[in-house]
Amino acid sequence: MKPPKHAMLSTDKKVKAPPMVYIAGEEMTRYACDLMVQKWFQPYFDTTSWHYFDLSCASRDATNDQVLKDAVQAGKDIGAIFKEPTITPSALQVKQMGLKKAWGSPNGAMRRGWNGITISRDTIHIDGIELGYKNPVFFERHAVGGEYGAGWNQVGKGTLLTTYLPKEEGSPPFVVDKRDLTDDHNVVVVYHNPYDNVTSLAHLFFGRCLEAGITPYIVTKKTVFKWQEGFWATMKEVFDKDYKEKFLKKGLLDKCGGDLQHLISDAATMQLIRWTDGGFGMAAHNYDGDMLTDQIAQVHRSPGFITSNLVGKNDDGSLIKEFEASHGTVTDLWNDHLAGRDTSLNPLGLVEAMIGAMEHAATLDAERHSGDESKLQTKDQVFNFTTTLRTALHNTFRYGQGTRDMSGPSGFTTEDFIDKVAWRLGR
Ligand code: NAD
Repeated sequence: MKPPKHAMLSTDKKVKAPPMVYIAGEEMTRYACDLMVQKWFQPYFDTTSWHYFDLSCASRDATNDQVLKDAVQAGKDIGAIFKEPTITPSALQVKQMGLKKAWGSPNGAMRRGWNGITISRDTIHIDGIELGYKNPVFFERHAVGGEYGAGWNQVGKGTLLTTYLPKEEGSPPFVVDKRDLTDDHNVVVVYHNPYDNVTSLAHLFFGRCLEAGITPYIVTKKTVFKWQEGFWATMKEVFDKDYKEKFLKKGLLDKCGGDLQHLISDAATMQLIRWTDGGFGMAAHNYDGDMLTDQIAQVHRSPGFITSNLVGKNDDGSLIKEFEASHGTVTDLWNDHLAGRDTSLNPLGLVEAMIGAMEHAATLDAERHSGDESKLQTKDQVFNFTTTLRTALHNTFRYGQGTRDMSGPSGFTTEDFIDKVAWRLGR
């Protein structure tokens, strides 16, 4: 019998997977992830050291959301997290699922709980297959602030005062904004952008672009939204001080006038459609990043071809990394599945997330037990496996056995694709 390509792994002696947090979600992605874990990972790894949290609406409801608090704490303790897409229940879903209340966004709680700096979203590429962008596109989305953390209410006629009370003792309060409301029906909203971590975001973004050899752009709507100037100013300051020379040396600013360029967000939406050669990166505020990365996903053929990694900072300065796909729970395919129809979920974004979390878990475990040879060996085994898995996945696409978003109507179903990759892994 031919030895398996991943010679250090075998189904006879499973490797104990390094500890990571595994967050389960809902619907089609949960179903597909269960299959992938069972058919791709568990034949080779003992996954009992994964800390498993069920963040389905039903489980959050049954535990009065204690499960979310526990997951955030475990993420802080361990530092490597894989997360399936989850549902933030709408008013209608609260009714349909019989929930006690509309539980808040678990993603928001995690971004705050892990001092989220950025959500990095990159295009996934398969050698030999042309997707939307020819070369990588990176995106850095500020992980906190903006509309997501807004306070709001509906009010009638009157005066709205937004007053700031400084924490510093003796500093007087001041009015940030005062406005007269003359309509009978108004929605008022207050939000802020916390900017302390933008310096860290800048270093992560420019460092990644420099290493990959791609040209960085900063996206805001600061021309009209004057309060966004600080984001650009910090990015530019970090760039000029630590990166400009390095980018110039590599010729990465040739196509943008030899300096870091700012793009207005509406102009960025157009460039994303035109710049299909790729080879660029963008950094933006939270909401702009949410919108623009969905656009990138469409240009690049499918939400299945985009990664989504949250980078946060622990109290000791070490990086917490959470890996997920950029898409949601794929409700439409789930409904098809429940109705007994074929589905074809592209699992690449989910798998890249599993791979990222396992690699980060193995790296942290080896660092925490420095000098322990067995941890280094496990790390090698994990990286060996993830390389093999990626090759098996890409080959399945290359041999025309991809999912239907890529291969058209003759593409594989969700289950057949997973089985095909499992077969390749076992060869
Ligand atoms: P979605 O991303 O699940 O799906 C959008 C469209 O893209 C659908 O037509 C779907 O079939 C297609 N699609 C997405 N991923 C695909 C893949 N891997 N392969 C093939 N096709 C794919 O977004 P939605 O339908 O707006 O949201 C569904 C649910 O997911 C909602 O309840 C929403 O709240 C939740 N959601 C969760 C997250 C998260 O947890 N990070 C993110 C977005 C949406």
